[in-house]
Amino acid sequence: MIQEQLNRLVRPDADGNFGRHGGKIDHPELAKALDQLEAGFRNIIEDAEFKAEMKRLQATYVGRPSPIYHARSLSRRGAQIYLKREDLNHTGAHKINHCLGEVLLAKKMGKKKVVAETGAGQHGVALATAAALLGLECEIHMGVVDIAKEHPNVSRMKILGAKLVPVSAGAGTLKEAVDSAFAAYMQDLENSMFAIGSVVGPAPYPEMVAYFQSIIGLEAREQFQNEYGGLPDEVIACMGGGSNSMGLFNAFIDDEEVALVGVEPAGEGLDRPGRHAATLTLGKFGNIQGFNCYYLQEEDGTPAAVHSIASGLDYPGIGPQHCYLKDIGRGRYETATDAECLDAFLTLSREEGIIPALESAHALAYALRRAPLLDSGKRLLVNLSGRGDKDIDFILQKLDI
Ligand SMILES: *Cc1c(COP(=O)(O)O)cnc(C)c1O
Repeated sequence: MIQEQLNRLVRPDADGNFGRHGGKIDHPELAKALDQLEAGFRNIIEDAEFKAEMKRLQATYVGRPSPIYHARSLSRRGAQIYLKREDLNHTGAHKINHCLGEVLLAKKMGKKKVVAETGAGQHGVALATAAALLGLECEIHMGVVDIAKEHPNVSRMKILGAKLVPVSAGAGTLKEAVDSAFAAYMQDLENSMFAIGSVVGPAPYPEMVAYFQSIIGLEAREQFQNEYGGLPDEVIACMGGGSNSMGLFNAFIDDEEVALVGVEPAGEGLDRPGRHAATLTLGKFGNIQGFNCYYLQEEDGTPAAVHSIASGLDYPGIGPQHCYLKDIGRGRYETATDAECLDAFLTLSREEGIIPALESAHALAYALRRAPLLDSGKRLLVNLSGRGDKDIDFILQKLDI
């Protein structure tokens, strides 16, 4: 399984580039620390003990493999819709997959602490969970605006023993939290490890996070063949930084008959700058926070304001692997609006009894739009990246139900 995992990964060149995207950091001190991290990563993925421990934790702690569910009610629209149930993981989303990997790696490298940013708090909770499990300190940087908005996740992180650092600079949201966490990491490169929350940032993070997430697609491909026969026609996932989608896509990269579809948040409309986060659809090439990718930018190149009803999707950049997949024509990138997302959220809740995360509802919204255009023999596999418990208060405020 592991060899297959490596063979199928979209790999960067020696400079951390996927085509013209990605790359290494050019800050000398940080570059040295990230080179050590990369060496540590290359070591552990060949290490039998590490692999055995990962496998044990995935099975007994996270609850893997997550099932693939054939959503028969949804499928009455046309094409058959299947859900990869990452929402059933411990902590309720896919993020635990890379957090366990990152914290286990930090521990093997003799680090005492993991440091990270969080936006909606999902990455912070998953990381605090893995750090509690494996006995490392955990420091989470979070914008003051997000802290005010995301109370339950802030409480969870505190209960799990993480140290929360409020960030009031700039807009007080995710981008500033990333800068703050990076600065804190640089204060203590010796004892700490920066544990990023998606397939973004300089090398080795995009490759490393994609590797830890690739369990999603490897399981899904095997399960689909065994339980339903053959391969799906399209595999579909929502796009924040791009980790749950890369996790799903990797295993299907060589299956040219399988379309890889990423769904970006169109927010209040693609014609409303600052009110969407459709990075691959409308972004331009450049460097954001230490790596090259397409990102939503102002005319002077500064990152643009972004919005999505799903706070886990509102980042102006995107993982370099996706930029590369777009350039070579292997990935197809679509969008779904806030309104379509709310619709999909309620449809899944009421037709199947599954409350999805608002992030995941974007992937679902595309599938619901797509299914009636295809005949009933076609099969769409949607990654249900997380559960919607975190979103229910917001939904009640938003909708008159
Ligand atoms: C964070 C999050 C996302 C977006 O992040 P990716 O890196 O694009 O996967 C999607 N779904 C859920 C449930 C999340 O918590």
